[in-house]
Amino acid sequence: MADRLAAAVAAVRSQVGDRADGWDLAGLIPEPVLRELGAAGLLCAQVPAAYGGQGLSSLLGGELTAETGRLCSSLRSVQTSQGMAAWTVERFGTAAQQRHWLPQLTGGRLAAVGFSESAAGSDLSAISTTVRADGDELVLDGHKRWMTAAHYADLLVVFGRYEDGAAAVLVPADAPGVRIERITDPLGCRAAGHADVLLEGVRVPAGHLLGGAALPLPLLVTTALAYGRMSVAWGCVGILRATLAEASRHAATREQFGRPIGAHQLVAGHLAELLVAEQVATRVCEHASRCWDAGSAEQVIATVLAKQVAARSAAQAAATAVQVLASAGARDGGVVARAYRDAKLMEIIEGSNELLGLLLAQHALDLAPKDLTPKEER
Ligand code: FAD
Repeated sequence: MADRLAAAVAAVRSQVGDRADGWDLAGLIPEPVLRELGAAGLLCAQVPAAYGGQGLSSLLGGELTAETGRLCSSLRSVQTSQGMAAWTVERFGTAAQQRHWLPQLTGGRLAAVGFSESAAGSDLSAISTTVRADGDELVLDGHKRWMTAAHYADLLVVFGRYEDGAAAVLVPADAPGVRIERITDPLGCRAAGHADVLLEGVRVPAGHLLGGAALPLPLLVTTALAYGRMSVAWGCVGILRATLAEASRHAATREQFGRPIGAHQLVAGHLAELLVAEQVATRVCEHASRCWDAGSAEQVIATVLAKQVAARSAAQAAATAVQVLASAGARDGGVVARAYRDAKLMEIIEGSNELLGLLLAQHALDLAPKDLTPKEER
């Protein structure tokens, strides 16, 4: 398994090289890069080998995600979307659907996942996209917002209302009635192919409904989001590693007042802060991934914690790294400026800081001693 991770990391490094800043400025990742990584199963590396995947554990898949995030958060965003699509098929698809769709997702076809709508952001219970059966077809109507990777995608995993519950449906991106409108100027992850997606009377075969039946909406979205959170958390570890390395390199080589700026204690304090952030985020992600690999009941809350810690730390660390580089980091086309823009978005997606804070607070309340009798009266 470790050999497989090493080969995967080498493949991602060779595809990205030193091109991430250029992709960021252009707002696009060259399609051959995505197709080659996709066809090698490296955009959803946790899919089992039986379906053409790399079969990496959550822990090793996480390290691959961190390395991708260290190099290029836009590519990592595409990887998160592809992984989330595959995970949704794995969790909700029938055996036949898994045999049909998973080899496509590990074979070079690209996917995007759509929950969000204009009135359904943090509150996904407000999703209004509809899925209805019409003979042996399904008809979809709705307007999805901010679908990462939709600009590149061949397949869209669309979440909508179905019968008395909800459903996830696989929709070919070129199906009649699908309109993909690229978001050309996102604050960060500029090359991740974000798009709004309009679905007007889109018809797909009934077999594209994952699991073939209505499911509770909270179950559907929580399951898909849990994968996305874990992936984003590891991506943030990558941002932390990139900013730590760049700030340390600069602090060791840039001299002011006759010595390297890293020798000035206030700058040294920034470096210590970056190192602590990277180490802490790595440890909480490792813990959460081990919970996934063990199938532990703690998996959900450990993932929320990992995403919360890693995203906040990455956003803070990227700002600190800009401070250490000062004018050297204040121009687009460099690692820390890119990290600064990319990391901020990590505090919004897959559950904002506030929403995850509410989940953690609820967990704290659940853990609180239930005996509310004042101590002196017990
Ligand atoms: P809102 O829900 O309007 O929230 C605005 C603010 O209010 C936030 O700070 C929020 O935390 C806070 N807030 C809201 N409710 C509460 C509350 N109850 N308590 C406290 N604070 C609250 N969506 C997809 O479906 N697929 C994707 O691939 C995808 N990729 C994305 C990529 C990027 C870069 C971005 C920016 C967004 C993406 N999204 C995607 C959408 C994303 O999931 C939403 O932006 C996110 O869920 C927040 O929703 P919102 O932007 O509508 O903010």
